[in-house]
Amino acid sequence: MRIVVSGVAGFIGSHMCDRLLAEGHTVVGLDNFLTGSRRNLEHLQGEPRFRFVEQDITRPFTIEGPVDAVVNMASPASPKDYLEHPIETLEVGSIGTQRMLELALQKGARFLVTSTSECYGDPLVHPQVETYWGNVNPVGPRSCYDESKRFAEAISMAYHRKHGVRTNIARIFNTYGPRMKLDDGRVVPAFLDQALRGEPMTVFGNGSQTRSFCYVSDLVDGLYRLMQSDERYPVNLGNPREMTILEFAEHIRKMTGAKSELVFQPLPEDDPKQRKPDIGKARKLLGWEPKVSLEDGLKPTVAYFRGVHATHTPAP
Ligand code: UDP
Repeated sequence: MRIVVSGVAGFIGSHMCDRLLAEGHTVVGLDNFLTGSRRNLEHLQGEPRFRFVEQDITRPFTIEGPVDAVVNMASPASPKDYLEHPIETLEVGSIGTQRMLELALQKGARFLVTSTSECYGDPLVHPQVETYWGNVNPVGPRSCYDESKRFAEAISMAYHRKHGVRTNIARIFNTYGPRMKLDDGRVVPAFLDQALRGEPMTVFGNGSQTRSFCYVSDLVDGLYRLMQSDERYPVNLGNPREMTILEFAEHIRKMTGAKSELVFQPLPEDDPKQRKPDIGKARKLLGWEPKVSLEDGLKPTVAYFRGVHATHTPAP
């Protein structure tokens, strides 16, 4: 297949691109580097089945030639990034997603959009199942991301219902691995960076809030399976192993050998108190479940961040 991937220079986007190339497909990758990094594409130099186009997908663009699939992954995704870029975040989920859907419609291509567990907001149902409609603050600081992704889901369903586009919606839960941005503020790079520097680890709130961390290769496998399925409604993809942020800090200390203390800082507004995917639907529909344990996933992630530290140059 010839596949257009937006957000190809992002953390998950670049891994998805690698997987598509490994499966023998051809990829046209789009990114405007708002939060993505050229470094995430360096290994693809000289790859004949990969072409990169620097493009903001909220602006008009055309893709020459046939397209079999459109994978729409472009968006700021870390709380720090979307709080810094709230308008771009809303634009890419709405205008950007519509432009990618129009591309799929014109080319007769299938379409996958990466949505988020943030659609559930600060959830009152636990674990989160796709049929739960969520508890989202529509005007809070995180609303730029939550509502952008909820719009992206809604317009994907509208293009399916109105125009018959073969759409898929993935709701991605917390994912980690090499190529995350060291300074994107998320808990995985933040704790790893602090631990590797021997600095205190910053726990927000009392650390009793929970998250469930999925290794990126598992996540990408779920995305690849989903884009071949005929399921139109959202499918959760994530690792159901849930832990508190305090427990997670302990794992990081163990994996890095760091002696870092914990320092407690205020919990950001609307920070969800608990998050764990119900992956029953993905199991049944896609035969998918995560295979990589937290211990095994953290090894290459720690090695990657050690490498980033060694070069002393922040990602461009
Ligand atoms: N967090 C933390 N210290 C940090 C960064 C994040 O305790 O330095 C917490 C944050 O408050 C949240 C969890 O870790 O409860 C996961 O945050 P992240 O930004 O990775 O993503 P989120 O799941 O909130 O989108």
